[in-house]
Amino acid sequence: MEQLINIAIDGPAGAGKSTVAREVAARLSFVYIDTGAMYRALTYEALKHQADVHNEEAVMGHLKEMVIVLGKDAETGLVVVNGENVTEAIRSSDVTANVSYIARHEQVRREMVRKQQEMAKSKRTVMDGRDIGTAVLPEAEVKIFLTASVEERARRRHEEQIAKGMPSDYETLITEIARRDRIDSEREIAPLKKASDAVEVDSTELSAEQVIDTILDIVRKRGS
Ligand code: C5P
Repeated sequence: MEQLINIAIDGPAGAGKSTVAREVAARLSFVYIDTGAMYRALTYEALKHQADVHNEEAVMGHLKEMVIVLGKDAETGLVVVNGENVTEAIRSSDVTANVSYIARHEQVRREMVRKQQEMAKSKRTVMDGRDIGTAVLPEAEVKIFLTASVEERARRRHEEQIAKGMPSDYETLITEIARRDRIDSEREIAPLKKASDAVEVDSTELSAEQVIDTILDIVRKRGS
C-alpha cells in the first residue's frame, strides 16, 4: 500500500496507542512518531537540572537546548536526548508524574507542534499523542481516537510492570492515570479531545491485534 497519508492516533494515557501505532507503522512501512516521548524527554531534562516544571521560561530554556532523536527503528522506540540514551529513563514514575505539567505550557506546545509538523511533512507517518488530530495534523487523512475504561488501562499497565519485575499497585495506577487524564483534558491549550472527524475505537474489550486490524481496515477503505 503506497498511500501518501498521515495517520493520527490520539487518546488517554494507557489506551494502547503506542503499541498499536508502532505496529500499524511497521505493517505499512510508515515512520512511527511517539509525541509523548518528546514531552517526556523534555520533562526528564527539566527534572535532571532541577528546573521548576511549573516555570515556563525555565522549561523553555531546556527545550531550546534539547536535541532529540527518535530512533527510526520503531521496534526499540529509542529516544536520545543531547547524546544520552533516555529510552528507559523517560518512562520513570517521576517523569510520568510531572509530564502533564510540562505539557500545559503554551510556548512548549507551540515548539513541539512545530517540530512534529516538520517530521510529518513528507507523509507516511503514524503519530500518536493527545492533540495530533486536533492541533498537530488537523489535515491527517486518518484519525483514530483510542479509548478504554480507566480500570482496563490500569490493569494493562499493572500487568506490564509486573512482567518487567517492577513494583506495581493497581489502585495507585487507577488514581495516577485518572489524574493525568484530568490534567490533559482540562488544560487550556490543545486539551485531549476527540477530533470531530476521528473514528473512536474503544479497546476495552479488544486485543491489540483486533485494534490494529480495525485501524488497518480504516486505512485500506480510505485508499480504495
Ligand atoms: O503518550 P504518553 O503517555 O507517553 O504522554 C505523556 C504525556 O505527554 C501525556 O500525559 C500528556 O501530558 C503529554 N502529551 C501531550 N500531547 C501529546 C503527547 C503527549 O500533551 N501530543
